[in-house]
Amino acid sequence: MCTAQSNAMNPPLIQLSGLSKAYQDEGRSQAVFTDLNLSVPAGEMLALLGRSGSGKSTLLNIVSGVDRASGGQVMVKGVDLSALGEHQRTLFRRRHMGFVFQSFNLIPTLTVLENLLLPLDLNGIRGRAAVARAEAALAQVDVEAFAHRYPDRLSGGQQQRVAIARALVHGPDLLLADEPTGNLDADTGAVVVELLTRRCREEGLTVVLATHSLELAAGADRVLRMQGGCLVEGE
Ligand code: ADP
Ligand code: MG
Repeated sequence: MCTAQSNAMNPPLIQLSGLSKAYQDEGRSQAVFTDLNLSVPAGEMLALLGRSGSGKSTLLNIVSGVDRASGGQVMVKGVDLSALGEHQRTLFRRRHMGFVFQSFNLIPTLTVLENLLLPLDLNGIRGRAAVARAEAALAQVDVEAFAHRYPDRLSGGQQQRVAIARALVHGPDLLLADEPTGNLDADTGAVVVELLTRRCREEGLTVVLATHSLELAAGADRVLRMQGGCLVEGE
């Protein structure tokens, strides 16, 4: 059993119990983890370190409900995601989660502003109220000047700022960031993570950040390392 305890007093926003995941590879079952237990209190910023292939993305995808565990339970905000159907999981994800990815994942055919209006629209927020909210979110990460540009006209660091604004604009409870600096140079990456950390703390968000950079993990409340299918404490 792999158990990562937390001493924090806040109720858990994420609770993983007996979680297992195996992929079928050429007819053989390959386990990524077999009995993972993790509690993340509301408001905690947790950094997940681990070598490439250790299972960080797999874990984030299961927490987000994009992927299903092979066994065990995933509770987010007291809701058992493993018991929800795909549509319900999608709705839950749209409402309560925001994502930042290595490759930014902005929609290239939409302007920066339109990229932010999308998660708002999916949550029923439209019209002038939506535009005002999107503009405010862009201003909070200093990219409001690019609202009417297309993403490919921005640098990587600027695109990731837009992606942070998009991840936060609908007021999620949980931010999942998968190697958010993987496509940025070291200096730009450090600035982007500092910004992400500051914005999430301002909003009181719970954050799970997967990174292979010890430096980037330094600003987290807790650092766990994914190793041999277990989460181990410390760096
Ligand atoms: P990390 O994000 O830490 O680099 P991943 O979660 O991407 O690790 O991968 C963990 C393990 O699961 C790796 O051995 C990888 O090859 C395997 N894996 C990931 N996704 C799939 C998939 N869709 N099908 C089969 N194996 C996969
Ligand atoms: Mg990964």
